[in-house]
Amino acid sequence: MQVYYDHDADLEVIRRKTVAVLGFGSQGHAHAQNLKDAGVPVVVGLRPGSARWAAAEAAGLEVLEVAEAVRRAEVVMVLLPDEAQAGVYREAIAPNLKEGAALAFAHGFNIHFGQIRPRPDLDVWMVAPKGPGHLVRSEYAAGRGVPALVAVAQDASGSAFQTALAYAKAIGATRAGVIPTTFAEETETDLFGEQAVLCGGLTRLIAYGFETLVEAGYKPEIAYFEVLHEMKLIVDLLYESGLAGMRYSISNTAEYGDYTRGDAVLPPETKERMRAVLQEIRSGVFAREWILENQAGRPVLEARRRQWARHPIEAIGPKLRAMMPFLKARIAEEEVGRA
Ligand code: NAD
Ligand code: MG
Ligand code: MG
Ligand code: MG
Ligand code: MG
Ligand code: MG
Repeated sequence: MQVYYDHDADLEVIRRKTVAVLGFGSQGHAHAQNLKDAGVPVVVGLRPGSARWAAAEAAGLEVLEVAEAVRRAEVVMVLLPDEAQAGVYREAIAPNLKEGAALAFAHGFNIHFGQIRPRPDLDVWMVAPKGPGHLVRSEYAAGRGVPALVAVAQDASGSAFQTALAYAKAIGATRAGVIPTTFAEETETDLFGEQAVLCGGLTRLIAYGFETLVEAGYKPEIAYFEVLHEMKLIVDLLYESGLAGMRYSISNTAEYGDYTRGDAVLPPETKERMRAVLQEIRSGVFAREWILENQAGRPVLEARRRQWARHPIEAIGPKLRAMMPFLKARIAEEEVGRA
């Protein structure tokens, strides 16, 4: 596999252009500040009255309305919520994009599923950091970087890949390493990961584990610690050392139970279910459903939020987390949706 590093990319390629970073959320705040520190002319595009306007200005950045930021730029990096991108593109981005500009993304959903159809004169590429924005910023500030994926969907200039690599360098990604991909591969694997494993899979595993223990008469407090709280210890080991490293660190009893009971909980046939989930992603069935859900005002999303908020694990969680102020939650308890 080809991996690109600092010496493969030329910062001057991106320093010669003005970059408009649209959005100042998780990714936006990191990209904009890293670009500025790398000597790239950057403006931030936001809605008038956006709560993020003051934060971007406090970081020393020039902030403009989206249409005006786009008019200024040779590179427009779209870091808006994925479900908002197509609407903003139609109204404020497309009519204002300079001839021959680059349209850039950190996730491929809207291009891959045809929600945004860029003009042929534009370059279209992606730099997708493999980490949350706060890490993209803090690693850059520490002189390091977060790895990223780079892909080109449309190469009108003939130099789209070199521009994308230069952008990746400016946000620190080539310090860690940049892996080439396609919009299809990035989008489909991202959706599959969150649906089958990281979010959809993990939350069911935790909820069923909790319910099994509580229904068998064990204290919910103990069940919470065993199936949710302790997850972090295991995930940290996986993150740092992989499956083998995690199994090396746990007790032999835990390791034997893992090998001999794991298949009973998630039998190999689980892969058939996973393949079905992947097929709905690849065929566009999931994308179509999610786009319609948004057009309808997100009734399913809201109903499921309310339903999950009533799960007994959410009643016990705040009490236990209050016993552990050292957890340093990223999200205030009042902000977390809970019935
Ligand atoms: P976010 O929700 O954190 O931030 C979105 C920003 O857009 C906010 O500043 C918000 O005020 C602004 N915004 C929302 N609607 C707007 C509108 N209509 N007009 C103008 N501004 C608007 O989003 P994020 O998590 O940074 O995601 C941005 C992109 O990065 C997405 O494509 C996402 O898939 C991708 N991405 C995110 C992560 C991550 O860790 N969060 C990682 C990799 C890629
Ligand atoms: Mg992802
Ligand atoms: Mg995702
Ligand atoms: Mg235990
Ligand atoms: Mg061991
Ligand atoms: Mg144990």
